[in-house]
Amino acid sequence: SVVVEQLRKEFSGVTVLQDINLDIKEGEFFALLGPSGCGKTTTMRCIAGFEAPTKGSIKIGGKDIANLAPNERNCGMVFQSYALFPHMNVFDNVAYSLNIKELKKNNLFKKIGVYTRMLNSKIVKYPKHITEKVMDILEYVELTDHANKLTSELSGGQQQRVALARALVMEPEVLLMDEPLSNLDLKLRHTMRNTIRRIQQDLKITTIFVTHDQEEAMSMADRIAVMKDGKILQIGTPTDLYSKPNTPFIADFVGTSN
Ligand code: ATP
Repeated sequence: SVVVEQLRKEFSGVTVLQDINLDIKEGEFFALLGPSGCGKTTTMRCIAGFEAPTKGSIKIGGKDIANLAPNERNCGMVFQSYALFPHMNVFDNVAYSLNIKELKKNNLFKKIGVYTRMLNSKIVKYPKHITEKVMDILEYVELTDHANKLTSELSGGQQQRVALARALVMEPEVLLMDEPLSNLDLKLRHTMRNTIRRIQQDLKITTIFVTHDQEEAMSMADRIAVMKDGKILQIGTPTDLYSKPNTPFIADFVGTSN
C-alpha cells in the first residue's frame, strides 16, 4: 500500500503540489492523470525519494519512508525514456541491479573487482539462481529470444519491456511508472497496455501509473486520481469518473467529448 497524507511541494517558494492525499491499496493499479504540468511527476518523485516533500507524509507498506534513500524504498521505476545501459545486452541490463544487491549483501565488491566484471558483458558470470530469475522474468515479458542483444538494437516496445523486467526482477513492493508508453507508436502503445496490465495482475504488484492520456488511464487503472494545478480534483474508478464527474473539468477531460 502507498499512503500519502497532506503532501505539499514547493520549488523556490512556488507551490506545485498541495493537499495531496492518496490511499493506494495493495495490488491496486492506480493512475495519476492530468494535463502537462499538473504535478504528476513531482508526486511520483516524492514517493520514489528523488524530491523531498515540503510538508506531509508518505508511507509504503505502513512504514514512513521520509528518511529512506530512493534505493531503500522498495520501489521499482519505469520511465518514459527507458534509461537502459546501451552497451550491455538485455540479460545484463536486467541482472545488473540484482547482482549488485547480491554482491553488496555478501560484501564481495572488493574481493572480486566487481566493476570490471560488470561492465564487460562478455566475461560476467552470474550465479545460477540469478541467471534463472532473469531468464524467468525475460520469458514473462517475452524477450527470451533477445537476451543476448544490445538494448540499442531493440525496438521501443522491446526496450520498454526490458525496463519493466529490470524493475520487476528486484521484486519491489511498489511499481512506479511515469508515462511509460508515450514514446511508443499507437499500435505498440495498445499492445503494451495489455502486457503491463497482465503482468501487474499476475504479480498483484501495487502500481502507480502516471499519464496525461485519459483513455490510457480509463482503460488500465482500477482507480484514477485526476490532478490539475497541483491538486487532486477527484479520485475514483473509471466508471465513477465517467458517470459522476465532480467538476466540469473532469467531465470534459475523461468524458465523451474526447
Ligand atoms: P508533465 O506531464 O508535463 O511531465 P507533470 O504533471 O508531470 O507534467 P510536473 O513535472 O510534476 O508535472 O511539474 C509540476 C510543476 O512543477 C510544473 O509547473 C513544473 O514546472 C514544476 N517543477 C517541476 N520540477 C521542478 C523543479 N525541479 N524546479 C522548479 N519547478 C519544477
